[in-house]
Amino acid sequence: MDPQTRIEVLPGVGDFYAKRLAKLDIKTIVDLIYHFPFRYDDFSQIESIARANTNEKITIQGTIWQIKNIRTPRGKFLTTATVADESGTIEIIWFNQPYLTKTLKAGTPVSLSGKLDPKSPRPKLVSPSYEVLRNQSPVTSHQSPNTLHTGRLVPIYPETEGVTSKWLRAKIGAILPFYVKTLDDFLPKEIASRQNLEDLESSLTKIHFPKTYDDVEEARKRLGFDELFLTQLASAIRKREWLSQKIAPQIKISQSDLQNFQNNLPFTLTDAQKKAIEDIVSDLERKTPANRLLEGDVGSGKTVVAAAAALAAYKNNFETILAAPTEILAFQHQKTLSEIFAPYGIQIGIWTGSKKQKGDITCGTHALLSTFKSQKQIGLVIVDEQHRFGVAQRAKLFMDQNLKLSPHVLTMTATPIPRTLALTLYGDLDLSVLDEMPKGRQKIATFVVPNFKRQGAYGFIEKQVQEGRQAFILTPFVEPSETLTSVKAAKVEFENLKGKFSKKVKLGLLHGRLKSKEKEEIITKFKNNKINVLVTTPVVEVGIDVPNATVMLIESAERFGLAQLHQLRGRVGRGEHKSYCFLFSDSRSENSIKRLKSMEKVHIGFELAEIDLKMRGPGEIFGLKQSGFFNFKIADITDQKSVAAAQNEAKKLLDSDPRLKNHLHLKQKLESVSSEYSQPN
Ligand code: ADP
Ligand code: MG
Repeated sequence: MDPQTRIEVLPGVGDFYAKRLAKLDIKTIVDLIYHFPFRYDDFSQIESIARANTNEKITIQGTIWQIKNIRTPRGKFLTTATVADESGTIEIIWFNQPYLTKTLKAGTPVSLSGKLDPKSPRPKLVSPSYEVLRNQSPVTSHQSPNTLHTGRLVPIYPETEGVTSKWLRAKIGAILPFYVKTLDDFLPKEIASRQNLEDLESSLTKIHFPKTYDDVEEARKRLGFDELFLTQLASAIRKREWLSQKIAPQIKISQSDLQNFQNNLPFTLTDAQKKAIEDIVSDLERKTPANRLLEGDVGSGKTVVAAAAALAAYKNNFETILAAPTEILAFQHQKTLSEIFAPYGIQIGIWTGSKKQKGDITCGTHALLSTFKSQKQIGLVIVDEQHRFGVAQRAKLFMDQNLKLSPHVLTMTATPIPRTLALTLYGDLDLSVLDEMPKGRQKIATFVVPNFKRQGAYGFIEKQVQEGRQAFILTPFVEPSETLTSVKAAKVEFENLKGKFSKKVKLGLLHGRLKSKEKEEIITKFKNNKINVLVTTPVVEVGIDVPNATVMLIESAERFGLAQLHQLRGRVGRGEHKSYCFLFSDSRSENSIKRLKSMEKVHIGFELAEIDLKMRGPGEIFGLKQSGFFNFKIADITDQKSVAAAQNEAKKLLDSDPRLKNHLHLKQKLESVSSEYSQPN
């Protein structure tokens, strides 16, 4: 059976079900096999009818004596049946399934799973799951269930409209035995035995149709390992490819030159910056091209770290290019670098859609990657945010064909990826983290405010406004939505708030549905302090810089990830004035409040992301939700021990068989999943 066979060729699927299954991302047979249950109904307890008196879920197996449909006065159908085993009889009722009398005729052996009706004096099952027992007398031992839907641990699957767990169970039950027989286990035997893992055939069988919960555990252990192992293998291969056959421009900078660089700065570097510079400088000295990720909050000072590397390249007669996601940022980098390099007389060029001017170091946008031709060999490519994806590939464009030199790559990001995740996500990159803010940056005093102190918070804002300061009041959504009734919508809030302040306080409303011209107008008014308090949705997150704003009040704060809250509060504290962040929450959950309270103590974005990771899981981390990495069905990417084990095995394997020549099944598997496990960008 070819696992990549389209699902519609299976009997009873066709285009009709194929369309529905596509909503569950099931397009091929292998997709269906890898559609795993998320829980199991425990119907493994099979009782004789005489002893059926428990409140728990049970299974009865016997023969239908009689069955009939009754029409209720309201025109609905009741199906009643009597089922008997050697010990006695039991009554069964189903609602609105009149077709049952066609499949479950008198004399049919059946298996029924459900709960007994506690109100009935005689044993009675209401709406049980059922299945016909074929070619066998009713099974009474739960050791070897021959059933799919009853009398066992019954798998429950993610469903979609028109595709029930029962349907999935039947289809998977029908093809699984054939599928696993033709299956080649791609995991090398040595690895399976070192890691104490089951073979693939039994793992796939057990995850769908386990006999015990131990079976489920064993299956999950193996299938979870597969996910981690395949991703680690893919990233290790990427790394090897990156390093193979390429020689990097060798770049050396003396300690005294570095010291001079620091002395010329108008500030002292943080320890984190010094460490990052050390990391990068030692990368540059190697013969292999660096591929390093520099991670740090907005304002943590990434640019100067990049500048140190650019200086090293300059001193070795190589050119550096710095690519930014927008034109504005590119110009900003040009300005910053011009200041830093003023003492050296180094020209900083710019290369964007609208302006092209070469320099010793050139800042720019995407245009750099397509139209830029340098005079000197490019030794270093720096990429600021977002454009991470494919950087290594694009860096090849700058390869010197005669020398076969491939530039070093440094990527900078403000996305708070916790260290614990970085190992999994960026296994092929080296990582430097700026986990320290420059001295003198004020911490924004943050308070989780109980609702009864709400008036006090408004009073505080009123006072700040009297002193000439400004405030943000942030609400998560524009309009009240039915599903999020507890969320204070900006519009409603805006009307409410007018009554909370004196007439002297001028309020403005900003949200994503305004036309850009209206938005600009409001932002300008706020910048000029014509508006004192800006009521807004999270659109402020990007790019509003008002140094006079000192208060950020956030409603329904529990709806945001901590790292996102951190970025939001970064909108204040940009000037000389002491600044504050007030967090309100509608949540009564202790955990939720505890989570928010960490905002009071922690002021580093990626530490907050780490806290969120522990408390809410990886899906909630700001900016990472859409990334393919969370396609893991089973593996826990925060389980560092398992990740490290998978990584070591991948490395060991590639050391002995770098092209997977002796592991063709694994090679094929890797190719078939590589699109699924692509890296976040
Ligand atoms: P980001 O990490 O967001 O790119 P920048 O590199 O733009 O941060 O730095 C933000 C500001 O902080 C710049 O004005 C920069 O000159 C300044 N800065 C960087 N490092 C330090 C430091 N160690 N001490 C004081 N100011 C610093
Ligand atoms: Mg920056």
